[in-house]
Amino acid sequence: MRKTFPSKVSVIGAARSGLAAAEFFKRKNISVFISDSCSEEQLRKALAYRGLSELQHESTSHTEKVLDTELIILSPGVPSDIEILLKARQRGIPVWSEMELGFQVSRAPFCAVTGSTGKSTTVSLIGEALKESGRETVVAGNIGIPVISQVEGLDEDACVVAEVSSFQLETIDKFKPKVAAIVNLMKNHLDRYASEDDYYNAKKRIIVNMTKNEHLVINAADERLCQWAEQIREQVSVIYAGVRKSSRNCFWVEDNLLRYQFNGTTGSVLKTDAMKLKGYHNYLNASIAAAVARAAGADDVSIARGICSFKGLEHRLEFVDEVNGIGWYNDSKSTTAESIVAAVKAFEHVYLIAGGRDKGCEFEAVSETLGKHAKAVYLIGEAAQRIQSIWKGIVPIHIMSSLEDAIHAIHAQAHKGDAVVMSPGCSSFDMFKNYEERGAVFRQTVKSLPGEHQC
Ligand code: ADP
Repeated sequence: MRKTFPSKVSVIGAARSGLAAAEFFKRKNISVFISDSCSEEQLRKALAYRGLSELQHESTSHTEKVLDTELIILSPGVPSDIEILLKARQRGIPVWSEMELGFQVSRAPFCAVTGSTGKSTTVSLIGEALKESGRETVVAGNIGIPVISQVEGLDEDACVVAEVSSFQLETIDKFKPKVAAIVNLMKNHLDRYASEDDYYNAKKRIIVNMTKNEHLVINAADERLCQWAEQIREQVSVIYAGVRKSSRNCFWVEDNLLRYQFNGTTGSVLKTDAMKLKGYHNYLNASIAAAVARAAGADDVSIARGICSFKGLEHRLEFVDEVNGIGWYNDSKSTTAESIVAAVKAFEHVYLIAGGRDKGCEFEAVSETLGKHAKAVYLIGEAAQRIQSIWKGIVPIHIMSSLEDAIHAIHAQAHKGDAVVMSPGCSSFDMFKNYEERGAVFRQTVKSLPGEHQC
């Protein structure tokens, strides 16, 4: 735990984690200046809501006032290469993500998970396993709970399970998880990175301060990650997950068992039939979670109990209702092509609702799965035309003007035994406030459909 902090701090970005950092410094009687590019009215509202109205602030742009400070904390929503930050670095002012701040404040070690998809599910599974082992555990970070709001009271025996985005990893300094995991590297966020490699390299920064005393868990089915693991094996202790790698520390699913070979021991942790989460992608997430929990010191029984009892998170292939024998599933958190594949593969006959704001994903990757599992696709939002041009000829495609219209059209078409999945593979901001609102509209609309409802 860092004992001293500077007397003056600037926070850029007044969203959840920036405001949590401001609250922390305010509690410590450290002078805080908040800068956000939103309107004055929006910023005042955000500060008032958190009881931070008296803090010095500026709205609409980031001026040199930000630089009158000894430390800058950056919200993950703000790019780390904006002009004011370049100036800050020239002047030698450190720029940290709120994750770095949380790490420096915490006495408890971190298990940190990054990747393109599956992070929230995986950190939740790790959290459940560690809690089952009797250890005080907090799950925080990109999952929606700022790390800095959770870590202050923890002692050395506790554990912080942190979901970490590539944006947060751009501005780490001493961040050094005891165990780290990278679930996968998939094309994503090309709206914010100049190239695919820039995005992957940001994720790989998770190991920048790690040594052989720390473990890195990687998805053994991800070719790019495996190649990289060969290069860094001398720096950090690697554990493979998902598929077996002979003669390596490894956790994988085979014959419906989650098995392992780890530090000279072999065995199985659980039967996948006992898991509440379904789908191959969740077996991968469970393998990674088991590896992380084991490397962090949890025993097999606790790992099995934690993983098997976890019911899943809202908006991740979440069962909403069955209407006239047709299952409706909300996968609003899906913002990559690979997430669409995972969702569609989980069912036999699927009506898919996809589309939204385009993040540059490779939707070609979904074509084969659609050909095998989908009855029809209903596209919404800004990406609809581009996706249609890629999936044309594989399944019937309908472009709809709203999510509600898509739901009503499918309700009129689908038959008993079919499944309907909203797995957008795109962000939601063209039509909704966020993915939670998109999921809520899906849920409400499905619940109000005429017919016989299961729940
Ligand atoms: P993240 O936090 O990385 O966005 P989530 O666990 O919230 O990941 O899941 C996001 C979406 O990805 C959901 O649609 C979920 O069903 C899907 N998903 C979860 N795990 C995986 C995985 N290992 N591979 C592909 N898709 C996944």
